[in-house]
Amino acid sequence: MNIGYQILKTLKDEIPDIEYNRYIKQLTYDDKHSTSDRAIYYTPNILIANYIKTKYSKKLSHLFEVRTSNKVTVFITIKNKRIIKTKFETKFIDKEKIKHSLLNPSHTFDNFVVGGSNQFAYAAAKSVSEKPGDIYNPLFIYGGVGIGKTHLMQAVGNVLQNHGKNVIYTSVEQFLNDFLRHLRNANMDRFKDKYRKCDILLIDDIQFLSNKDSIQEEFFHTFEALRNDKKQIIMTADKHPKRIGGLEERLKSRFEWGLIADIQPPELETKINIIKKKCEINRITLNNEVINYIATIIENNAREIEGILSKLHAYSKLMNIDITIEFTKNVLKEQLRENRANITIDKITNIVSKELNIKPSEIKSKGRSRNIVYARRIAIYLCRDLTTNSTMPQLAQYFGMKDHTAISHTMKKINELIKNDENFKTKIEELTNKITSSS
Ligand code: ADP
Ligand code: MG
Repeated sequence: MNIGYQILKTLKDEIPDIEYNRYIKQLTYDDKHSTSDRAIYYTPNILIANYIKTKYSKKLSHLFEVRTSNKVTVFITIKNKRIIKTKFETKFIDKEKIKHSLLNPSHTFDNFVVGGSNQFAYAAAKSVSEKPGDIYNPLFIYGGVGIGKTHLMQAVGNVLQNHGKNVIYTSVEQFLNDFLRHLRNANMDRFKDKYRKCDILLIDDIQFLSNKDSIQEEFFHTFEALRNDKKQIIMTADKHPKRIGGLEERLKSRFEWGLIADIQPPELETKINIIKKKCEINRITLNNEVINYIATIIENNAREIEGILSKLHAYSKLMNIDITIEFTKNVLKEQLRENRANITIDKITNIVSKELNIKPSEIKSKGRSRNIVYARRIAIYLCRDLTTNSTMPQLAQYFGMKDHTAISHTMKKINELIKNDENFKTKIEELTNKITSSS
């Protein structure tokens, strides 16, 4: 029995039988492409891959390390001829290269749902994939968590990798580790060669350069070399370069030389379409009611979707029942509670205050001016809608109102406005998005 299966056998003794039989048993080990520091396993579908990855990949690396005394990175992926060929066979020869170019093969343009929140970034990425190194260099994509920055950046990478370009995908952390490793081994020339000679550099979460001076210096030179050679650079970050603190001015200004594209939190419709797309990719059938429900409970973070789908899928298989709306609500009850647990009245008031430019103290006061009343009503509505445990009397007290009837009156007013005024409705949706995504 080869090492890959020996490790699974060890794992078997440590986990519940049902987990082993349902998931781990489906893994096949790729002996040919695994190396002393890299173990490759395949699963029949991406949901199982994701499930095992989240739950067991740490454990698996640990078992490998115990057994072989090597630090082993465990890859759990779907078996796909193209991946094996391009990712493992050709690239595994150069271990260092592959370490950074594991693009997720399902992060493609086809799999990316375009909506109002991301169409600009999408168009920018698309045009970079057609003319890399040309006008939009660097391309800087920024926005909140789980809204598709990495996906979009890798979509460009996948297109260009398929055209035979040498694409490096890396994070600031990996870049830094790689830098330190080469420094330790006194082969900085190789480091420079590697990053300055690639065709496309994709670097994720660039905000982590913040306050790391030595790596900023190194990155600056990499950036200059690539850009001078008309090699495409794409970066992502959680904010606009101007707002990244602890970043050298020369880097900040260079980040703005090409194109800066933001991605906003997805609108409800985009969320729905992303869920549909993920269902399609993972071959799961859900009815519209279930899809809409999932879209309303997730935060503005598409990252949750795959987890939710695998959960629903796994439970329904396990219990052998269809995924109905009741079933979904039941399975996701906990998730909803968790997602909403950190939404407090204070938090809502602060966000509404910032957005509408009315001080929190005014919102909570008895002030009757039009703007204040407007902001207060919105805050009350959102508190009722988004917090799980605030009662009407509590809200009345907090917002300086007479009693709970004043609250229910407010609710009625706002519900009417939402029904009759499309702009107002959008405003409320935007605020809801802001609140649920600012955890
Ligand atoms: P970020 O890098 O912005 O944190 P990711 O790119 O990792 O987010 O996206 C998180 C998950 O959501 C991924 O599975 C990705 O495929 C999916 N996703 C996000 N936005 C979209 C979209 N517009 N269309 C399809 N999938 C999306
Ligand atoms: Mg990302």
